[in-house]
Amino acid sequence: MAGNPAKKTPVQSFIKGIFAATFLSAVFLSVGSFLLAVITIVLGPVASLTLATQSYRGSCPHCGNDVCGHAPVFQCHLCKNKISVRDNSFHRIV
Ligand SMILES: [Zn+2]
Repeated sequence: MAGNPAKKTPVQSFIKGIFAATFLSAVFLSVGSFLLAVITIVLGPVASLTLATQSYRGSCPHCGNDVCGHAPVFQCHLCKNKISVRDNSFHRIV
């Protein structure tokens, strides 16, 4: 005599479905946020280097020393002359 198998009622499968959907969405959300965090950590410094700072490096047109500064105009830290940045190169300001 076979035992009476436990039947799933529609309510139980519905609740199971909700739990499964919640679990899956939680997994997807955590994976998504994790990927987002990784992308932000990896790309953040690169993006800030290329986009935000706009810092240029080269030799001072006045004294020839190696200087770095920000566009459009900055001051040489050695000879205190002003340098303008145009077309990725340094120019004197007279
Ligand atoms: Zn200089």
